[in-house]
Amino acid sequence: MNFLIFNFNLLAYLFMIVLEPIGFVHNACTSSQAPEQIKKEVSEIEILPAYADGLQDIEQSEYLDLIFSFHQEKRTELTTQIRTGETKGIFASRSPRRPNHLGVTTVKLLGREGTKLQVEGLDALNGSPVVDLKYCDTSVFEQAAIHRSIRIDSPRMDLVRHIMQNNTEELLLKAAELHGHICPGLALGIMGATRVMQQLYSQEKDSRDYTLIAEMQNCPVDGVLFITGCTPGTKRFIQRNPENMCFYVLDKTGKGWKVSYKENNREYMNHNLPAGLSPAEKGIALLTLDPEQLFSVEEIQETPAS
Ligand SMILES: [Zn+2]
Repeated sequence: MNFLIFNFNLLAYLFMIVLEPIGFVHNACTSSQAPEQIKKEVSEIEILPAYADGLQDIEQSEYLDLIFSFHQEKRTELTTQIRTGETKGIFASRSPRRPNHLGVTTVKLLGREGTKLQVEGLDALNGSPVVDLKYCDTSVFEQAAIHRSIRIDSPRMDLVRHIMQNNTEELLLKAAELHGHICPGLALGIMGATRVMQQLYSQEKDSRDYTLIAEMQNCPVDGVLFITGCTPGTKRFIQRNPENMCFYVLDKTGKGWKVSYKENNREYMNHNLPAGLSPAEKGIALLTLDPEQLFSVEEIQETPAS
């Protein structure tokens, strides 16, 4: 153990980094002020003449990432109490008592006069050495915002993608969040409904026009309901004649699909899955079996009699 510690220390020593200030922060902020108070102040960043050429076109950036040294902080703590009273790891906080005492803050660039930049939103104290300054890449936030708006308009987008990619294991894991456990029944429901929805989506139909008639019961129903999105809450779910071991996904005119589970599918499963699997393992392994031995899918032209 000591040997390991020695090696890590040696490694840290070999990779020791020496930082040189490229400039300094000027503002009216002292260590007694709270960070949110400091952020409201306008700060001036004075870049040293040797780095002046590095400021070319900086005015085109609305936001900058500023890396500075917490020059008045000498302590290092690996856990810290944040203002809510919770204890967090230093890397999960913005505390200055960090191993390298470096602060990173995104600031708004208000203006530039030669080598002096006026910025807003900085939480560095007066006199802080600036270590680096860079164009702020906001694309990750923009992507997150786009992704969020797509999810608001089409909350089932990720599911549809998994359905079209036949990613049944991912779908099974997601459905288990609703069902509460992974089991062969849930997997059977997922497999059958995935086949139907692949056909429905490839024909560019709107899944919201369809109703699920489940002539079955128990675990598979949750799998089918999850994949089709036909739930009791959407009023697109009917359950009847559970002994038939089949389900329909039909539009208002009665057209759609019927999935019938094979009577002997249990024997086929027992014969083709290794013995001694837990229900969850069996559910996952089931996804790799031949769907045609488990159920049939047929296209339906009219509503079946109830
Ligand atoms: Zn189950």
